Amino acid sequence: MPDGSAPLDGAYLREALTHAHHPTLAIIYVHLTGDTRFIDDPAYQPEYELINGDPDGGIAEDAKKVLRDAVADAMEKYAETGKLPSPPDRATLQKMMDYVATDHIPDEYFDFLSLELPLDGEDKRMPGHGIDIPSDWAADHKMIIIGAGMSGLLAGIVFQSKGIPFEIIEKNPELGGTWYENTYPGCRVDSPNHIYSYSFEADHEWPNHFSTQGHLLRYFQKIADKYGLRKHIRFNTEVTGAEYHDDNQTWTVTIKSKDGKTESLTSRGVVSAVGQLNQPAYPEIKGRDTFAGPAFHSARWDHSVDLKGKKVGVIGTGASGIQLVPEIAKEVGELRVFQRTPGWLAPTENYHDALTSEKLHLLRQIPFYQMWYRFFLFLSMGDAPLLYLQIDPAWKDFDYAPNAEAADFRKQIEDYITEQAKGDKALAEAVTPDFQISGKRSLRDNGIWLETLRKDHVTLDTGNIREITPKGIITEDGEEHEFDVLIYGTGFKAQDFLFPMTVKGRGGQDLHEMWDGDGRAYKGVTVPGFPNLYLMYGPNTNIVVNASIIFFSESEAHYMTVLMKMMADAGVHAADIRKEVHDAYNEMIDAANAQMPWAYAKANTWYRNSKGRVAQNWPLRLIDFWNQSRDEEPDSYEMLK
Ligand code: NAP
Repeated sequence: MPDGSAPLDGAYLREALTHAHHPTLAIIYVHLTGDTRFIDDPAYQPEYELINGDPDGGIAEDAKKVLRDAVADAMEKYAETGKLPSPPDRATLQKMMDYVATDHIPDEYFDFLSLELPLDGEDKRMPGHGIDIPSDWAADHKMIIIGAGMSGLLAGIVFQSKGIPFEIIEKNPELGGTWYENTYPGCRVDSPNHIYSYSFEADHEWPNHFSTQGHLLRYFQKIADKYGLRKHIRFNTEVTGAEYHDDNQTWTVTIKSKDGKTESLTSRGVVSAVGQLNQPAYPEIKGRDTFAGPAFHSARWDHSVDLKGKKVGVIGTGASGIQLVPEIAKEVGELRVFQRTPGWLAPTENYHDALTSEKLHLLRQIPFYQMWYRFFLFLSMGDAPLLYLQIDPAWKDFDYAPNAEAADFRKQIEDYITEQAKGDKALAEAVTPDFQISGKRSLRDNGIWLETLRKDHVTLDTGNIREITPKGIITEDGEEHEFDVLIYGTGFKAQDFLFPMTVKGRGGQDLHEMWDGDGRAYKGVTVPGFPNLYLMYGPNTNIVVNASIIFFSESEAHYMTVLMKMMADAGVHAADIRKEVHDAYNEMIDAANAQMPWAYAKANTWYRNSKGRVAQNWPLRLIDFWNQSRDEEPDSYEMLK
């Protein structure tokens, strides 16, 4: 465990500050002194590059030294007195936010963003904050949550805070969801950890900017323990079905434990928190079951198989493949990587970097540092990247990029790939996508991807796979490549929301029959005909370029409390989204998605379902999702008695 607990003072304080994100320090100085001189001074205005570049936004070294000395002096004073000036007023806070954003933040964002900054003594970050649900109503509104991953645990925390009884059903022997199941070598989060954590549960202990799977799992375990959630979780138990009863507005949830025992539970509502990426997809390749050696999926890693010195074939170069290949390349004898479509790389210099002990000190001990650093990440990954997705009707080269800024960005990434290929033109060509950026999720890279593919014992194979045989893989050119082990980095059946459960709503309507492979929901959460069925990370709530998925789950959890208050106000225990409201919402989402590269780019992607519709992604701004999770709208729902 990294240690940031030693006292932060004297020479060590001054040394630690050299590790700081300096624009964050300029903000901290306002908190420590009330003085805005650094954020007002043009010499301290950061300007960030599109790709990598100086994390401090180009602030000059001598200016940074002046800033650090001023912060160190102010910190020493604070250590003596223990007193800070009063929190910044509205105008100063706006100025601070604008400084971090390097732009003026419009008024409509102020409430949304200031939620991240609990400066007035009231922490409003917990979803459901400010939503008053009467305790007698809450006590009679038991919920079943399916899944004890990031979203399910969050739902439990929020229900607990509202006095709503709940039970979490988890098919695995441990909580953590995706961070429990994906144990492949090299697995790590690809959103920075200081925003890939609950807003109300900051962690100063992340060992990396992008931590590895074990640390993510431990974070969620720690949170579950802190909130006493384990006693509410039934492990090793699967939900096989859920059925709504019109006569008494309850649900029966059928569960099956590992030993085959089944049981029926009764609840007022059901939360599906099973995620979009929990059913491994195996490729439909002739002879797939005939391979004689060990063969397994990235999300079902077989740790009993020793890869040392072996001939290994990996199919797939998506987010999982690109993480596991560099790691196993360190030990295998020969590695052949089958790439059907290359993904765009997202150059990220600090992708594998550990947080220095000095950085950990700053996060833990400088007042407000962690909060503003998270805010900086939140803004830089917030709505700003959407600029690169907007279609400019006047822009001529649409096949290359939707607008001039996006074209410039794509050119910079192409140059990065060429540079990484170190003169190997064929390699650069093979790994450069021919579709628009954001047609698929970009893959974080610190140089390790092409460094791995350039190794003598690693071969990138771009030939189509014709067949899998007992010995290995035959490619279209007829050549058979023999392997000891085959690994499928071939993704997930993301479109199969709630698969394989049977879910029946009003009048016995079957959810999967109704969806017919095209899952839809209102605000990603509610489905007409299925009162009190709430989806978390449901249809059209995935992100491609902005934020962290936890932001979405927090908004969804908040929305559930809004709906519960609405029911309590109406004196009912069931509400059903009106079909016409749901349909109009989905039309709006479909129209917005049609403008996005993930809809029109000529790339294979799990974002589009078998009907060609984008059923996964959120196409609008974060603030739009946040706002819609706060709307009270009793007219949109039918209240059921
Ligand atoms: P994926 O993005 O769907 O990639 C699957 C890969 O398998 C693609 O390269 C695909 O090629 C290839 N493939 C599938 N069928 C094939 C076939 N028949 N022949 C040859 N190649 C085939 O899956 P993933 O890498 O597991 O990632 C899924 C999602 O999980 C990501 O988008 C991300 O949201 C999430 N994820 C996140 C992290 C993280 O946070 N660190 C890590 C892993 C995954 P095509 O492109 O041609 O289809």
